Amino acid sequence: MKIKNGAEYIESLRKIRPVIYYKGERIEDVTRHPATAPHVRAAAMTYALASDDEYRDLATATSHLTGRTIGRFTHVHQNVEDLIKKIKLLRILGQKTGSCFQRCVGLDGINAVYSVTYEIDQKHGTDYFERFKQWLISIQDENFMVVGAMTDPKGDRSKGPADQPDPDQYVHVVEHRSDGVVIRGAKLHMTGAVNSHEILVMPTTAMDERSKNYAVVCAIPVDAPGVTMIFGRQASDDRRDKQERIDVGKPSFGAVGGEALIAFEDVFVPTERIFMNREPEFTSPLVYRFAAHHRANYGACKTGLMDVLTGAVSYLTQIQGTSKASHVRDKITEMIHLSETLYCSSIACSAEGWATPSGAYMVDTMLANVCKQNVTRFHFEVARLALDLAGGFIATLPSQYDLESEDVGHLVKKYFSGVKEIPTEDRIKIARLIEAMTGGTALVESMHGAGSPQAQRVMIFREGGLDKKIRLAKALLGIPQKDKQGG
Ligand code: SF4
Ligand code: FE
Repeated sequence: MKIKNGAEYIESLRKIRPVIYYKGERIEDVTRHPATAPHVRAAAMTYALASDDEYRDLATATSHLTGRTIGRFTHVHQNVEDLIKKIKLLRILGQKTGSCFQRCVGLDGINAVYSVTYEIDQKHGTDYFERFKQWLISIQDENFMVVGAMTDPKGDRSKGPADQPDPDQYVHVVEHRSDGVVIRGAKLHMTGAVNSHEILVMPTTAMDERSKNYAVVCAIPVDAPGVTMIFGRQASDDRRDKQERIDVGKPSFGAVGGEALIAFEDVFVPTERIFMNREPEFTSPLVYRFAAHHRANYGACKTGLMDVLTGAVSYLTQIQGTSKASHVRDKITEMIHLSETLYCSSIACSAEGWATPSGAYMVDTMLANVCKQNVTRFHFEVARLALDLAGGFIATLPSQYDLESEDVGHLVKKYFSGVKEIPTEDRIKIARLIEAMTGGTALVESMHGAGSPQAQRVMIFREGGLDKKIRLAKALLGIPQKDKQGG
């Protein structure tokens, strides 16, 4: 584990030179640029906890490959305890950053690819699993951050990869060489991409025989020739660019994860970094497992954010003198109830974990999909309650410049004050934090990250065991079961 703490992680990013654009200009140093530095600091927290005695047990693990101590974000889950420790860690990280700390996507990619490559080798006698293990050992030893790259642009959604007018709408192999492959295409919404060390490319959907050149899994360093990233805008990012420490809401960390488009313009990948090539039948379990792991995580990281939001609005009610009102207490109770209910589903899908043939542990997929579906409701309801309690001034508050103005600062302080003992500046800071955590880009991730709500509903219906439930109802009433499907 070469990178031992947050400072070493930040230093490691300064040694690589990925091609990154933002607002039409190249970012030379993601650790210092105002648009990306907050996301770097959030990811650095994952490294910081691994070096902190209080959190070391959650934030590190023992590699089953080497026996060495590694960061949990590079670990292959070996049992239910690993799955639960990860969930506990994610909630704490959500609480400490109030943001997305980005490293879970790589972790989920590692776990999905590990179990699926094992199964490909078992069936076809290939050596993908051995290659993947060698790559993973190097990632564990370096303690690198990996971006799990799954989401393709998809172009015309009515057509699959092989029928797209533009074949690059899904990442695919354009050339097979004796020593590797050349890939082309792009991945969208890549959380943490600009401050990762490696990209783990995976297919975005189940592929058929006609799309077999799209059934590719491989690892690429972020600064490999042909890789270009374009960092996305977030709401109020101009405030961040101007370093407005109060108005930005969350001065240290990002609004959400910091996403980027990653373009692959004929990128060469050597054989030892290819972990699946033209194996379409294994794309389905790969996508399925990755998605289930990531959906389980959302119930933990977002609970951490909801904890922060609940704390922020509770403090605001104290500042405003409303904290003792019964409806205020009831709404805060509801916020806590929703947060803990969400966390329950994250813990539950981990507690029901099961061993894949490789030995890597999977979460229960039904409960993981329920967990993520809950995020798309509960986080929004908690945000709605926070805005209800905070009041309309969240949307009309004057800027930090006016607060600090020699001419009008006294008016802002006087007329935005609350109870006497607490400075107006606290009220304004908390208001900006609530604004940042409930508006703009903040909630979009809860809706669409780890798959849009409909993707979970498809899985919930598919795995719902309706035939079995029909049989249960019939059995209670003594209605004959005509066939084993219960029809
Ligand atoms: Fe991790 Fe949550 Fe960010 Fe996904 S959204 S990478 S689960 S912190
Ligand atoms: Fe996310």
